[in-house]
Amino acid sequence: MKSKIRTLSASCLCNGVSMKITGEFRPVINCHCVQCTKTHGNFAAYTSVLEANIEYKSKKTLKWFKSSQKAKRGFCKTCGASIFFKRYGSKGVSISAGLFRNPSKLMTKSHIYVKNKRDYYEIKDDLPKFNKYK
Ligand SMILES: [Zn+2]
Repeated sequence: MKSKIRTLSASCLCNGVSMKITGEFRPVINCHCVQCTKTHGNFAAYTSVLEANIEYKSKKTLKWFKSSQKAKRGFCKTCGASIFFKRYGSKGVSISAGLFRNPSKLMTKSHIYVKNKRDYYEIKDDLPKFNKYK
């Protein structure tokens, strides 16, 4: 059987947050909720990994914002990159797919909170669409 364990590097624009992740990567989910849209400036494309699999090369500009009772968001205080979405109590952490270099071999699997999407774009692919986290 082919192993799903891979190593990928990710960093923000200024490299103040940079990391190497070894493990399994969940396929990317596009989240169209209002909170993601407000913090990313558009819908958010997130893969997810076990937090324990993250090996930081630098996190000196990483800052956390408590965005709700349930979760916090990690961003770079220098370049402004949206980096993490972390649900309290979860072993996993969502990480913005755009921080990885090509070829990441990450595939997008679905859209969530599609009812909340902003009105300037249409979702025209055939991926599954949900109105909740799934
Ligand atoms: Zn940065």
